[in-house]
Amino acid sequence: MDLATTPAATLAEMVSGTAQARDASDLVEELLEELEVAAHALFTRFPWDQGSPWHLSKTNLSALGGCRRRAALAPRAGSWNRALVVGTIADAALKSHLFSDAGDGHRVEAALARLDAAGSGGAAGWLGSVSVERRQRVCDEAEAAAATLAAFWPHPMSERLWLRVDEPLSVPLLDGSLVLAGRPDVTLSGPPTDAPCTLVEVKARNLHAQYRNEMEFYALLATLRDRQLPAHLVVLCGSGEHSVDPVQPDSVRAAARRVVGALRTAEALSVDQATGRVLATMPSGLCRWCDGRFWCDGGRVWLEENGLALCLDSEVDPDDLQCTDDAGYSDNGADEPL
Ligand code: SF4
Repeated sequence: MDLATTPAATLAEMVSGTAQARDASDLVEELLEELEVAAHALFTRFPWDQGSPWHLSKTNLSALGGCRRRAALAPRAGSWNRALVVGTIADAALKSHLFSDAGDGHRVEAALARLDAAGSGGAAGWLGSVSVERRQRVCDEAEAAAATLAAFWPHPMSERLWLRVDEPLSVPLLDGSLVLAGRPDVTLSGPPTDAPCTLVEVKARNLHAQYRNEMEFYALLATLRDRQLPAHLVVLCGSGEHSVDPVQPDSVRAAARRVVGALRTAEALSVDQATGRVLATMPSGLCRWCDGRFWCDGGRVWLEENGLALCLDSEVDPDDLQCTDDAGYSDNGADEPL
């Protein structure tokens, strides 16, 4: 990912739909075969009999690429924090803006209305549970991020771009037992238009290298679905940073390799659990948000050695603490459980 920022005018030009469609039929056959083989190896050894498919999302991939003990932890339901609230509001505010601009100072209000209409009251519930001062600070932060994100977009958007928000991307494997699933924030163009799709993700804070893997996963899903390569992967941040990356076959292959790696890790994790083996830990900056940090010795030692012992206090919000290992990357996405 090219982390250098580009002028907003370049972004507007990039989404103008001038890119040409690139057929990827051969690549799709190659990648589907690799993915099916890895999925078959896992499910032959550990048959999936939960009654519904296993949805492998970008959050699962991230979990399986790191600490095994953390990957085995069930995510806590309803676990909201400041970063997740700001991110959720900024995301909803941009999606409102794309269809009807609420204007300066009203974007948080519009976002909360959108979330409420969608039956998603988590952010509003968290805001209602904190002090008036904290609520104001968080709303100000979200309003600033939403205003920055809105400024990236031409308004109104050209109808030629066929803009969609939260479009599901899913690729069934093994006759639907395993589904690779994602939902980019914004999708532009793609079949049946004659322009390839561009996938856009919105982040409330800073650009982080970790987002490359997420975007390449989306590119993999879109390639397998459309049988053609997407044009660009775009990340827009509330800080004003952004990245625009043309999609190449190798970046799609890299994403497929990470999925294969995750399936192998899931297999190894299942073996560990079936045999009662102690799950390996891999302490890192992500220990800050891990539910296991209160009892995990490896995580506790790492946090103490990196000046983050405050995270071991359940009253402290980990997002208020910075760490040089992965500053700015908050791994708090709510997604399907493993
Ligand atoms: S606290 Fe850190 S090392 Fe321990 S399980 Fe969580 S992520 Fe792994």
